[in-house]
Amino acid sequence: KEKDSGQPEFLQAVQEVLTSLEPTAQKHPDFVRAKIYDRIVEPDRVIMFRVAWVDDRGEVQVNRGFRVQFNNAIGPYKGGLRFHPSVNLGIIKFLGFEQTFKNSLTTLPMGGAKGGSDFNPKGKSDQEVMRFCQAFMRELYRHIGPDTDVPAGDIGVGEREIGYLYGYYLKIVNANTSVLTGKGLEYGGSLIRPEATGYGAVYFAAEMLATRNLDLRGKTAVVSGSGNVAQYTVEKLLHMGARPITLSDSDGTIVDEAGIDGEKLRFVFELKNYRRGRIREYAEKYNVPYFANQSVWDVVREQGLKVDVAFPSAHENEIDGPSAEALVKNGCYCVAEGANMPSNLDAVRVFQENHVLYGPGKAANAGGVAVSGLEMAQNAMRLSWSREEVDQKLQGIMRNIHRAALEASEAYGCKGNYVMGANIAGFLKVAKAMLAYGIV
Ligand code: NDP
Repeated sequence: KEKDSGQPEFLQAVQEVLTSLEPTAQKHPDFVRAKIYDRIVEPDRVIMFRVAWVDDRGEVQVNRGFRVQFNNAIGPYKGGLRFHPSVNLGIIKFLGFEQTFKNSLTTLPMGGAKGGSDFNPKGKSDQEVMRFCQAFMRELYRHIGPDTDVPAGDIGVGEREIGYLYGYYLKIVNANTSVLTGKGLEYGGSLIRPEATGYGAVYFAAEMLATRNLDLRGKTAVVSGSGNVAQYTVEKLLHMGARPITLSDSDGTIVDEAGIDGEKLRFVFELKNYRRGRIREYAEKYNVPYFANQSVWDVVREQGLKVDVAFPSAHENEIDGPSAEALVKNGCYCVAEGANMPSNLDAVRVFQENHVLYGPGKAANAGGVAVSGLEMAQNAMRLSWSREEVDQKLQGIMRNIHRAALEASEAYGCKGNYVMGANIAGFLKVAKAMLAYGIV
């Protein structure tokens, strides 16, 4: 703890995971003897680097770049790149640690990693984003490779950034290979990858609801964020007959009680992905309430919004204990996390004490990396699967993740606790591989 005292998000994630792994230590004394628990919380390596680039005014800018290669016991390192001013070592370590278990849960051979920079793409010109991506790749390229480490997108890194990063990698390495996922369809991307995290979170929620003979039809859903995950969560909720009523960004939240329908969602796609505008414009266009400087969870708490299911899809620690209590009080019985660790430890406790079907991000948002794994498989075979094929595989993977988490929760005496189940199921495969390798 002392060594990582400046990294609260990392410590929070480690605490949550290690607590839930306690039952495994009793069943596997060999893990204890080989100090697997001590070893699994230490990243294989941390790479930190200077990213110097020139802005449109000709001024030199300096950012910090990160790649934390956490664990490659079961496959090449795999995990997204995040460009956001809040990025620091602790956040990237927390994300890389979580990614190790999530990737294991997908059943695909992928290790865990995460990276990014404190660069803020907001308000930057296309040219500036391109120059930054090129400067970032100028260092990153030497640490990655199709069998070593395969980064992807995350907050602030979408198809545009992946294009610039991949184009520059291709230029300097001269190898057109599967070194990044989330690529455009023209140069090796997979159908359904943009949709995968949001769709997967909704599939996971549907699986949880089915254990209580419920489904999403007619249910009121709150969704936070308005980026990649939030947009496709709303789209899949509409396919499943639910009524999504909220979206947000870092400036505020809209509430549309009539429901965000297909036409309004198309407006959000255009607003966020092409114009890079603010969600406030939705409220102006459709004449619905806008709550400036409030998160979805503030609005749920203060306006008493009635909710059946919740999909936090913005950022870590967006839901605290009081917000979780308000959700429960307002009727929420299912939470599927599209974002990584959006509920803090108090919030998780509230959900569990109130028997909310609570799907942690590690399981519920694993659809994105699962389809990234499918993108790697298609690249390796040099062919492309159809939308239907990829979507079917995604549904199958989400069903398997749900089953694996549920079964592990039963086997280790905490039936229905998806946090423990997902952590245990993800951990066992990695731990057994580490044990097989001896002390390395
Ligand atoms: P995007 O950058 O596309 O969207 C992020 C959204 O969250 C934006 O609406 C953004 O608002 C909002 N947001 C981000 N940070 C903050 C903050 N500190 N305060 C308030 N609002 C914030 O990212 P994604 O949709 O890709 O990612 C969302 C979450 O899902 C993250 O936790 C990510 O790690 C996780 N995730 C994503 C996957 C993927 O495939 N994309 C896979 C698995 C997990 P604004 O525009 O104002 O910043």
